[in-house]
Amino acid sequence: MRAGNFALGLVFLIIAGPLLAADIYTIRLQDENPTEAAVQLLLNEPLNEETVFKARSVAGVTSRITRVVCDLPTEAPATRLQDDAWQLPSGCVRLSWSTSFIEAGDRLYELSKQESLYHPKGWWFINESDALLRYGSQRLANVCALAPGDEKCEVLSSLERPPTFLLVGQSARELDGNKTKVEVFTGFDDSYLGLDNMLRSFSTALEKLNTMTAAVRETDVAPTRLQFAWLSISADLGSIGGAAGNGAFVSNFLIREDNVVEEIEKTRLLIVSLHEYMHMLGVNAGAPWATESLASYYGFKAVAAADHAADVFAQLSYADHRDAPLFLRGAALWKELDDQIGRASDGMKSLDGFLSLLIEPFENDRVLPTKFACEVAALIGKPEYENIVSAYLQGSRPGQSGSRSGMQVALCEKLGIEKP
Ligand SMILES: [Zn+2]
Repeated sequence: MRAGNFALGLVFLIIAGPLLAADIYTIRLQDENPTEAAVQLLLNEPLNEETVFKARSVAGVTSRITRVVCDLPTEAPATRLQDDAWQLPSGCVRLSWSTSFIEAGDRLYELSKQESLYHPKGWWFINESDALLRYGSQRLANVCALAPGDEKCEVLSSLERPPTFLLVGQSARELDGNKTKVEVFTGFDDSYLGLDNMLRSFSTALEKLNTMTAAVRETDVAPTRLQFAWLSISADLGSIGGAAGNGAFVSNFLIREDNVVEEIEKTRLLIVSLHEYMHMLGVNAGAPWATESLASYYGFKAVAAADHAADVFAQLSYADHRDAPLFLRGAALWKELDDQIGRASDGMKSLDGFLSLLIEPFENDRVLPTKFACEVAALIGKPEYENIVSAYLQGSRPGQSGSRSGMQVALCEKLGIEKP
């Protein structure tokens, strides 16, 4: 949307305001002073009592909100209660404040800090935690960011969801998939990524992931917009980071001193981005480690399906050195089960068909749901199932008596899932 459309959009929001009961945040960004922004919050109705406004807190992020005032109906300063909390007077209908952005270029900035950023290529990353003030009874709100030549509006995410992230300004590429529009914001050295190839693989992988998860995802429709910031970080610094918000994600990739981005790094970037997409589809297993590791495994699987040449699963071979099944170790478990299911069914079945059985709450954090255990064990064989699950989840050696998966598989007959 260009500026004209935005004005129309704003008029629509204001007209529709009483109907939708929505507050409207407006963040104004500019080229002249790009690390500062003025923010305005127009309330759907005046405050009927003194009200505390707070920034959403995220570990490690200190809000950079300053100069909070009520400016309608009359100008009145807010009272600062704590670092991130202000009290506004009764009757106030519009608030204003300032926020600032860290200027982050290429190679030096580690993104897990989640700070709001300005990149000199002309884009901004806004994390609500240091840009927006919320109040207790707030329901529906729209957040609009106005940058030169671009603007974005997003619904303020509820506190149970990841924080509102917005990427606005000059994107390096936009890709219109048949359902989802993908926007990528990068640094000056994006040519080393081979961005066109990357996005082709990414778009194919998104489609594959939609198909693989068709039976279990929360939303029938694919998200209409995905935003990514991919920012290089020097391999010498040895650390990459990322952060996920509602609808937008930021991730580092390693670049060598000689400007080479290794293939494994490109693959990793795609996998991380697809992991986040999997969360957006709302594929949630019955235990947090399983939700995370399934998101990772399906990231690997979708990239492998999109690009048969890529040695996608190489990273998983290191998985068993890790303690927690949260990411790679869990992903290695799913790969092992998926491979066995494929082998036992001559390629007719895969883990995709069993995902719905993982949505159930797990009885025990490290024991997969019984129906899943029985169905998979019936197909691949009880000892094989037990070996895999024991090795990855319970730290017990195959065949060790009393392993929990073993006791569970013994119950299958009672459930009528046992096959002779
Ligand atoms: Zn995740």
